[in-house]
Amino acid sequence: MQTIDQRLAGFWRITLRCQECPALAPWRKFPPRARGNPGHGIMILGEAPGRVSLEHGRPFSNPRNLTVRNALARALAPAVIEPEEILYFSDAVKCWPSSQSGANRSPTAAETGRCTISHLARELEIIRPTVIFAFGVRAASALLGHPVKIAELHGRALEHANGYRVIPLMHPSSINIAGMLRVGMRTLADYEAQLTELFRRELTQAGIGARELRQG
Ligand code: SF4
Repeated sequence: MQTIDQRLAGFWRITLRCQECPALAPWRKFPPRARGNPGHGIMILGEAPGRVSLEHGRPFSNPRNLTVRNALARALAPAVIEPEEILYFSDAVKCWPSSQSGANRSPTAAETGRCTISHLARELEIIRPTVIFAFGVRAASALLGHPVKIAELHGRALEHANGYRVIPLMHPSSINIAGMLRVGMRTLADYEAQLTELFRRELTQAGIGARELRQG
């Protein structure tokens, strides 16, 4: 019987070679080591890798998206550890969707659907998460299996038929004042505070408290 780590290694061997989406050349992906720890059942799902995050070799690294990492750091305090030690990061679309000019673009619905069927579904089978924070409309739609209006679901915990909870969230890279006002927030600081509370709640629910973090 293979361990989760062995099964994930096999999964990533296949996924890293995948070139199913012709428009996603040069098919850049995060290396598996950037993904973190699947052992606690808490998963952070983004839409797709972005240019800056790929350059840094870790998800949610561009300045705007650091609000997610800041919220995680506050939720994990007083422990000072990388979120990857506790959480598993992935994306609905595994390759970087770049525009002609080399800027980030949103993955198309077709790219999201293809990668969900070919890879995300298998990844979820291996990890068997208990809760998934889904950042952005593509990530939430991929998990829920239909197009969603992210502002209507932002911050709600939805029970999924596959046994995990999905918490759809507006993506920090696309959130704007109008979007924030729709869900009762006024500033990015409000957004970060809300994320911190949600992360804290799920860490507690997973039995990961200050003592467990101290013990590593
Ligand atoms: S986005 Fe997914 S399906 Fe498309 S080439 Fe990359 S790994 Fe394959």
